Amino acid sequence: MHIDRRNFLQGLLVTQLSALPIPNALAQDNAGPAVDRSMEPWAPGCMDIHHISTGRGNATFVMMPDGTSLLIDAGATADTLDVSCAPKPSDERRPGEWVGRYLNRHFKAAGLAGLDYLLVTHLHPDHLGDVTVASPLSARGDYRLTGVTDVAEIVQVGTLIDRAFPSYDFPTKLVGLFAKNYLGFVKSRVDRGERVERFRAGSGDQFRMLKHIAVPRPPQGNTRDAARAEFGIRNLAVNGEVWTGTGQETKSMFPPLSELELRDYPNENLCSTAVRLNYGKFGYFTAGDLTSYSFDGDLPWRNLLTAAAQIAGSVDVATADHHGMFDGLSADSVRALRPQAWVVASWHISHPDQLQLERMFSDRLYPGARDVFATSLMQENYLANRRLARRMRSSDGHVVVRVAPGGDTFQVQVTDNADELDRVKLSLGPYVSGRNAGV
Ligand SMILES: [Zn+2]
Repeated sequence: MHIDRRNFLQGLLVTQLSALPIPNALAQDNAGPAVDRSMEPWAPGCMDIHHISTGRGNATFVMMPDGTSLLIDAGATADTLDVSCAPKPSDERRPGEWVGRYLNRHFKAAGLAGLDYLLVTHLHPDHLGDVTVASPLSARGDYRLTGVTDVAEIVQVGTLIDRAFPSYDFPTKLVGLFAKNYLGFVKSRVDRGERVERFRAGSGDQFRMLKHIAVPRPPQGNTRDAARAEFGIRNLAVNGEVWTGTGQETKSMFPPLSELELRDYPNENLCSTAVRLNYGKFGYFTAGDLTSYSFDGDLPWRNLLTAAAQIAGSVDVATADHHGMFDGLSADSVRALRPQAWVVASWHISHPDQLQLERMFSDRLYPGARDVFATSLMQENYLANRRLARRMRSSDGHVVVRVAPGGDTFQVQVTDNADELDRVKLSLGPYVSGRNAGV
């Protein structure tokens, strides 16, 4: 058997890291009641948002109230284990395979099959999958298996949506092996007649419920309750275009590229997609790796995340975008979103940054209790940020938001990423939706 040096070293690192104390155990004081049972399957009328913890990139899986499904990203970073978490549950499979299997078992439990929408927030490896010459070839086309292509190999994908289809040339042409591989995947879908779309900023109907299962009426449903319980996804931003709040109108935050020096061009993160999910009074915000850092005011147009957060307004659950890195949440974006629960999609040693945690926990930016969850925190990060990291509710595991039929309340459950049994490690709530609206 051939074992290359990198795999051997990674094996050693996995062994060493698993011997370290688990941050969850250190954060136990704040964890709340421990639970040990398998997660209840999704039921019609509920909306589930799973922040899947593979330790290697982002993957958020949404089951809408009628069983329509959406996967936002399926990352697979090739970062080494000195700066990144070990793969979860293990390195026996690639991260995209774990994600595909996660989807399939939840589809099966719900009596459903196939993914309706796959949204790639932006074109980076930790959101769509890195690739090496050792990555296996797809049986379906001229591309290799990683991240989203691994998912699509195991799960039928209805519509693929990204920020740049079909030209992939804004603000500059995509480069890199991972990008070439993804473009091969897109081409094979087009060749097979499968749907691929560009994300449309301002749209309120690009993601729709496809009526897989009849949604029960909300409890004591009268006309007013039924109207409130409407589900919808609003596309808030992409490629610097931000929804104005009127119709499908957008405005561009980016100056014309001809006016910019190459070094000031918007980067890939700044082109990320942002969405708001609504279900009755419940609201959720997520924006890929959108950032707010403007080089300390030098280039104010780069403060995209704040603009997207302000047009989203108050929500109940929000992600700390760009993995809670230094350039993610501004104070104003926190003031605008003021969620009851923050989810940090973390896997790298730098996720999250201490000032980002300060803002998420700050009752100066908005009043009231809030809970912070991270999908996978490295021990090194925990030690560096212990002052605030110890206040997190959880720092390792899938973070699953379950919104009750009608959207009036929700729970947050953390399930174990050590295997595929979906054991609930922690269950919090019910939270009352819309608590911070108008605060
Ligand atoms: Zn990222």
